[in-house]
Amino acid sequence: MPGRYDLHTHSVYSDGTTSPAEIAAEAAALGLAGFALTDHDTVGGWDEARAVAAELGLDFLPGMEITTRHDWRSTHLLAYGFEPSAAPLGIELTRVRDSRLGRAREMVDRLSADFDIDWHAVIEQGADRTIGRPHIADALVSAGYFADRGAAFADVLHPRSRYYVPTYAIETVDAIRLVREAGGVPVLAHPAAGRQSRAVDPHAVAEFARAGLWGIELDHPENRADWLPPLAEAAARHGLVVTGASDYHGAGKPNRLGERSSRAETVEAIRALAAVPR
Ligand code: AMP
Ligand code: ZN
Ligand code: FE
Ligand code: FE
Repeated sequence: MPGRYDLHTHSVYSDGTTSPAEIAAEAAALGLAGFALTDHDTVGGWDEARAVAAELGLDFLPGMEITTRHDWRSTHLLAYGFEPSAAPLGIELTRVRDSRLGRAREMVDRLSADFDIDWHAVIEQGADRTIGRPHIADALVSAGYFADRGAAFADVLHPRSRYYVPTYAIETVDAIRLVREAGGVPVLAHPAAGRQSRAVDPHAVAEFARAGLWGIELDHPENRADWLPPLAEAAARHGLVVTGASDYHGAGKPNRLGERSSRAETVEAIRALAAVPR
């Protein structure tokens, strides 16, 4: 895939199952021009991804996927090329990660009434990573209760489950402003993902655009085609750049690296705005 970039990938620094180095090697094997690492709420994998990408002659774009909410809807925001030491954004991200830890612990407590899993099995998967429901899923799979993450989500980890506990999320418009303040480029992730009950409202997209949203991930394997037209119209009306990416999670999800991608021109446009362009 010459000249193509996968702009949404997860490593073991959050809920992917492969290291940043392995993602880089896989991207090179596929013939991608480059990739962005976008772990949830952490930049922990940037250094490794950057170093291995350079060895392999790949173009690396630093990124992250931020846990946000808008009107109580869980809304993921991609952020590219921001300065990771920017204080206000960093403080909010620490709050998000701390909340995830307490929330996962509470979910495991609830689950342990009916399943023989303990907190240790979840937390021993790594202290440096952003913890999430996929790690609880992995513990349930290891204990033999479910075949894979998808089955665990469908049965006990979905938001209407009695075991579910919400976690702190930044207001989406605040996150957009914080990313811009940190010299980053904000892109709305998978706004029509079928796992949620509805797509992001086009009026919300207008509000996000006013706050500084730059792009919108309309080309994503989980976006529902029948939900896309109003979003494509909103994107055009507000001058948002449309991006494509796979949301690769290694073996944690069926999404394959490079199955959706963005053009080099898109990456160049992001770089022109970014405080940390590579
Ligand atoms: P959390 O951030 O803890 O709320 O967990 C959400 C994460 O779980 C997202 O990053 C998704 O990629 C992942 N996820 C959601 N549904 C599924 C599923 N059915 N199978 C595997 N991973 C999932
Ligand atoms: Zn994820
Ligand atoms: Fe997401
Ligand atoms: Fe993602």
